[in-house]
Amino acid sequence: MDAHAMTDLLRAMDVPRWDEGALCAQTDPELFFPEVGQTDVVREARQLCARCPLLRECREYAIRRGESHGIWGGTTDRERRRIRMERRRGAAA
Ligand code: SF4
Repeated sequence: MDAHAMTDLLRAMDVPRWDEGALCAQTDPELFFPEVGQTDVVREARQLCARCPLLRECREYAIRRGESHGIWGGTTDRERRRIRMERRRGAAA
């Protein structure tokens, strides 16, 4: 998924606060799709997410959707995989 697709998806999300502004829509969206090893870019994206009014909705959306690319709701794809695994384990217990 490229940055434009992410913006389109965010717009399609049924999130009433969209109009309050997703911060990634107000900056360079490429920031949210860092290449492997671009830890400084990841850090910068996380800092923006931390101030975004859509943080929780965005993170949950990406976790539930199985989004495997990019920074969503301040999480990396690896972190979202871990969260999904933990939830599956919790549901099975
Ligand atoms: S939490 Fe981050 S990725 Fe999600 S809408 Fe906000 S700025 Fe964009």
